[in-house]
Amino acid sequence: MTETLNYSKPLPSLEASNKPFWDAARSGKLALQHCADCEKVRYPINHVCPHCLSDRFEWKAVSGRGTVYSSIVFHQVYNQAFAGDVPYNVSLIQLEEGPRMISNVVGLPPSEVKVGDRVQVVFDPVTPEISIPRFQRAG
Ligand SMILES: [Zn+2]
Repeated sequence: MTETLNYSKPLPSLEASNKPFWDAARSGKLALQHCADCEKVRYPINHVCPHCLSDRFEWKAVSGRGTVYSSIVFHQVYNQAFAGDVPYNVSLIQLEEGPRMISNVVGLPPSEVKVGDRVQVVFDPVTPEISIPRFQRAG
């Protein structure tokens, strides 16, 4: 999908709090924080559970399955690093486990992504450390 060399787009900074997420992504798994007290899935990454305020959690892989909750097509270049990508879609994915994740649906023209499409996570290895979770239509 993307060349792993010469990747010039913005990248996340690896920190202790997000390293388990990116380590799992690099190995082809979507892992999210699960509260060790109420067991709800916590996303975005947070040091405190938004449901029960517990600070205890563990990282567990989730299914990577979801549906498109919302999708738009970017035609405007807001960051020059993405100038070669327009038009591209930015989609809000409703994960089966509850959280919604902003990502891209790949593998089809951006305007063909529809709300309600069933999708599955795929990983785009853009650097040796970072594999970006994106989604493709599930069969
Ligand atoms: Zn909790």
